[in-house]
Amino acid sequence: MDLKSANFWRSALAEKAASCAPAIRIMEVCGTHTHAIARHNLRALLPESVTLISGPGCPVCVAGAAFIEKIRRLLREGVTVAIFGDLLRIPGQFGTLAGEKNLRIVYSPADALTYALANPRQKVVFAAVGFAPTLSAAAALMADLETQKCDNFSLLSDFKEIRGVLSSLCSSSSLSALLLPGHVASVTGVEHFSGLPVPGIVSGFEAENILHSLYLLLQALAEGKKDFLSNNYPQAVSAKGNQAAQKLIDRYFTISSSSWRGLGEIPESGRILKDEFARLDASKLYSFDGITFKEDPDCRCGEVIAGTAFPESCPLFGGRCTPENPVGACMASSEGSCAAAFIYGDRQ
Ligand code: SF4
Repeated sequence: MDLKSANFWRSALAEKAASCAPAIRIMEVCGTHTHAIARHNLRALLPESVTLISGPGCPVCVAGAAFIEKIRRLLREGVTVAIFGDLLRIPGQFGTLAGEKNLRIVYSPADALTYALANPRQKVVFAAVGFAPTLSAAAALMADLETQKCDNFSLLSDFKEIRGVLSSLCSSSSLSALLLPGHVASVTGVEHFSGLPVPGIVSGFEAENILHSLYLLLQALAEGKKDFLSNNYPQAVSAKGNQAAQKLIDRYFTISSSSWRGLGEIPESGRILKDEFARLDASKLYSFDGITFKEDPDCRCGEVIAGTAFPESCPLFGGRCTPENPVGACMASSEGSCAAAFIYGDRQ
């Protein structure tokens, strides 16, 4: 963004914020927004009264704390586990999964099935984390499985429903407004986010698009429009979203409570396979009894994910915890808030 645009947005945002409450806390829910904001140094354009807080929209960061250890148990039982590469860097109770045998890195759910079909003597589990976009790809995979004979494949699901966690965060983190996730909304639609207690806007990821979205949120706050919900990413997002994908998701997955790293168990915030597909559900085919997980006591990932602490307030930030040597998920994940703060020197 050139200097002229930067100056325009600086003064436009300041003017709108002057009509709002003296302290405004806006959560950017999505990890891709967090990194775009840090990369373009957008916080420097905000008036002092406006604070941007990073939310729980990095799927790898919020994966259930014991998920890594479940994968490790499967691997050590001789099961081949397919994962997305980002999970490889996330520490579990006994370190990361790097160096474990039987691990297979995949780039899509379809890759995992292709591997299972090519290796019928191996038991293959696809250990999946993600929000609606990945979930819809997994649902398409389930549809494929119905037409193919594949007895050696199952799914260990840690899929999340971001809508389920937002209302509880709105009250616990005293948020003023939400910058809603563009990728998730491309599947769910904007209407999926109606009824939240604070104004929200779905935004794209370009710097000026984000600034414009923040401007519209400040305008809604200045006008006292608590039920403001808008779509500022119409190129990719519609009111009702991708209904074919939603139908496919609902055919195979049901809404459940889910464990979020740092936030604990949250009702209606996850997706698991329906009972009728138990034969494909690794959580029912394998035992995970006795698996627990304790975070490093100094790691503040939970508070960072909940928006109640900034990465820099963690005593390990930039010392014991760096992207090369991460202690917590928020530094290990390429979409994590701590990684963004460290890489771009983004300061609150
Ligand atoms: S800096 Fe590292 S240890 Fe601290 S909260 Fe972030 S990820 Fe956790």
